[in-house]
Amino acid sequence: MTDAPAPGTPALPDVRTGNGYDVHRFGPGDHVMLCGVAIPHEQALVGHSDADVGLHALTDALLATCGAGDIGDHFPPSDPQWRGQASSLFLEHAARIVRDMGGTILNADVSLIAEAPKIAPHRQAMREKLARLLGIDVERCSVKATTNEKLGFVGRAEGIAAIATANVRFESGETA
Ligand code: MG
Repeated sequence: MTDAPAPGTPALPDVRTGNGYDVHRFGPGDHVMLCGVAIPHEQALVGHSDADVGLHALTDALLATCGAGDIGDHFPPSDPQWRGQASSLFLEHAARIVRDMGGTILNADVSLIAEAPKIAPHRQAMREKLARLLGIDVERCSVKATTNEKLGFVGRAEGIAAIATANVRFESGETA
C-alpha cells in the first residue's frame, strides 16, 4: 500500500541508476580501445566490434536506466553490420534513447580492471571522450582503473573487464 503524499509535497526527482559489466579477451593486435581511446599495447581485445569493453559496460548502464534492454538487443553480435564498428556508436545510440525518453544524463562512471596496459596516462582523454559522446561536462565523467592483483583471468592478463554506472534524471517525475 502506498500512502498518498501530503498536499504540497514536492515531486521527488526521478533519478535512476543503471549498471553494466563487460569482459573481452586479448588476442593478436597492437592496441586496445578503451573508453573510446586507442592505447598501444602488445595485444588487442577481441570482439565483434572494436571490443571497447569500457564503452560496452557504459552502454549497458545507460540502457538500464530506462529499461531498454542491453547492448546485445540493440546491436546483435550475429549482425554483420556491427563488425569492427566503433563502440562510440553504441554509446551514442544509448544516450539518444535516454534523451528520447526524457532523460538527462547526470554522470557516468567506468571502472577498468586490467593488469595492462596502464590506464592512468590515458584517463583524462577517456573522460573527455565520454563527455563528448554523452554531451555532458567532463566533471560528470569518471574513469577509474585497478588491477586484479594478478588473480583470475584478468590477473593472468587474458582479458580486460569493465564495470560502469550511470545516473539519469527523467522528467516524468512522479510523486512518491
Ligand atoms: Mg562487449
